[in-house]
Amino acid sequence: MSKIIVVTGASSGIGALSARALARAGHTVYAGMRATTGRNAPQVEAAAAYATEHGVDLRSVELDVSSQESADAAIAAIVGEHGRLDVVVHNAGHMVLGPAEAFTPEQYAQLYDTNVIGTQRVNRAALPHLRDRRDGLLVWVSSSSVRGGTPPYLAPYFAAKAAMDSLAVSYAAEVARFGIDTAIVVPGAFTSGTNHFPNSGHPADTDVAAAYEERYAGLTDHVAGKLAEITPADADVAVVAEELARVVDLPKGK
Ligand code: NDP
Repeated sequence: MSKIIVVTGASSGIGALSARALARAGHTVYAGMRATTGRNAPQVEAAAAYATEHGVDLRSVELDVSSQESADAAIAAIVGEHGRLDVVVHNAGHMVLGPAEAFTPEQYAQLYDTNVIGTQRVNRAALPHLRDRRDGLLVWVSSSSVRGGTPPYLAPYFAAKAAMDSLAVSYAAEVARFGIDTAIVVPGAFTSGTNHFPNSGHPADTDVAAAYEERYAGLTDHVAGKLAEITPADADVAVVAEELARVVDLPKGK
């Protein structure tokens, strides 16, 4: 059955590619954009062009995860249009690379705000509707490095993703009784718009940036394909064990 899906942070990277793949699979997909005018206008146009070209139902919606008002308005618009919402893909993320000691508290706060609190803002808006459906799905894009360390120079980003990962597991336990499944996608590193180099003038930054680009280029498609694969048309989330995209299928406990 065709689902109504919202993907946060769908202007680039695996968010954009996953939204397209899910639309190709026959779902109605809302590509969440931090803005639909100004900075993200080209991505909104690209999504519309893709929808026309491929004859798929891919729409853009303004959804800035740093604003509760924006999250509320986006979810209200989707539910107002379709009377329901089936799947939320928590993909919006922010990553900054640099030596741990170079990060300011403000940078830590922003990493935490986007990667952790952002999911909470969307959940506050979306969960009442998913509960109504009793067959909803929450997909969380986590990271294979939530224990930290590798690749280096991502300390506060990994700490934020670890918090998000923990939040996802706790949510899973709480929402299962409402028929809401959970999938936690755990990609390894890949190059995308989110990899900001360097964070400081530290010489290590430049080396790491170059090594990262060389090692992880071209993997975005692969991760997006896996994400779309585990966001199925019906019922349970499949377990996909892959080197780069691991999915934890949590017990339903209904
Ligand atoms: P991209 O930078 O390509 O995508 C990040 C997306 O998040 C962009 O669409 C960006 O929008 C959006 N975003 C950032 N802040 C906000 C906000 N406040 N509100 C709404 N959207 C926002 O990166 P990736 O595709 O690499 O990242 C996608 C997810 O994958 C992230 O959660 C990331 O943590 C995770 N991940 C990435 C890995 C990697 O190596 N790249 C590895 C493991 C996990 P905008 O265009 O407006 O900036």
